[in-house]
Amino acid sequence: MGGLSDRFGRIARDLRISLTTACSLRCTYCMPAEGLPVIPRDELLSASEVARLVGIAVHRLGLTEVRFTGGEPLTRGDLVEVVRRSAEAAPGIPLALTTNGIGLDRRAAALVDAGLTRVNVSLDTIDREHFAALSRRDRLPAVLAGIDAALAAGLTPVKVNAVLMRETLDDAPELLAWALDRDVRLRFIEQMPLDADGVWTVDAMVPAQELLDVLGTRFALEPAGRDDPGAPAELWRVDGGPGTVGVIASMTRSFCAACDRTRVTAEGTVRSCLFADDETDLRGLLRSGGSDDELEAAWRRAMWGKPRGHGVDDPGYRRPVRTMGAIGG
Ligand code: SAM
Ligand code: SF4
Repeated sequence: MGGLSDRFGRIARDLRISLTTACSLRCTYCMPAEGLPVIPRDELLSASEVARLVGIAVHRLGLTEVRFTGGEPLTRGDLVEVVRRSAEAAPGIPLALTTNGIGLDRRAAALVDAGLTRVNVSLDTIDREHFAALSRRDRLPAVLAGIDAALAAGLTPVKVNAVLMRETLDDAPELLAWALDRDVRLRFIEQMPLDADGVWTVDAMVPAQELLDVLGTRFALEPAGRDDPGAPAELWRVDGGPGTVGVIASMTRSFCAACDRTRVTAEGTVRSCLFADDETDLRGLLRSGGSDDELEAAWRRAMWGKPRGHGVDDPGYRRPVRTMGAIGG
């Protein structure tokens, strides 16, 4: 079995499948205030379609990790079923969830029972008012309950992702202190130009270095490498360890050259890169009786066209049409 390669020699290992574009929050860096247009249920991949694609990805394309994302995957009533069927299709493969955590308190145990192995919860600040302003919903207690439930269900280490925003930059030290205390792994991510309102600018973006300066006012940080050489997060040991904080500098220190991701949208199209609008429809093939050979070939063709990088600094750069919540981050 050959790996899922592109014309620049990168091999995809990590599959991100979006399950929905619906969400319980409206983070300003992601969604419009009114939410994304609702996708009719029958246009979303079903649990069995997701599982079939997971099986092909693992057994034919050599992918070694699967992550469910969205929109908010916990808004899917059949999420436990999606996980269970995917685990059956690809036994032993890590199955992860990227979530805002709302509703995880009620479902964490069932998800683990179905085969979920990891969870990343997105949380930008533990200041309730700032959280409500940034996500346009006053739901911080529900997110914190979700994180507690993930820890209790043994989904450790729980990772927490925070997008770097000017409005919450001063909250970063408090968020890190909270994360160290709860033993969750915090990673900050530079904001990408994938917001629905189209207001991202390079000047307004908080660069990773500015975060490090702010954290440095309260903590002693030493470089601690990466989890593995291709991992996007650079780690920093905090106050001598063992706790660390991760920084994903997607914009100022792009890691496109080491990108190992392939993405499937909630409507079943393959997307080779967050920033590339070209998509290849797999749902049509799935529903018209396409064979595994045909699905594999279509997926390989889609990834061959993966661009070299996000191109944000190129003179002819244009924002992708889909926004983060519509792609699946
Ligand atoms: N709703 C889930 C969540 O928030 O974790 C899953 C989907 S969300 C689109 C996936 C990740 O993308 C989250 O960690 C979120 O913070 C991140 N994200 C969204 N918009 C972003 C942007 N413009 N730049 C960087 N990260 C972004
Ligand atoms: Fe929803 Fe996640 Fe986007 Fe926030 S980042 S609006 S929680 S999809």
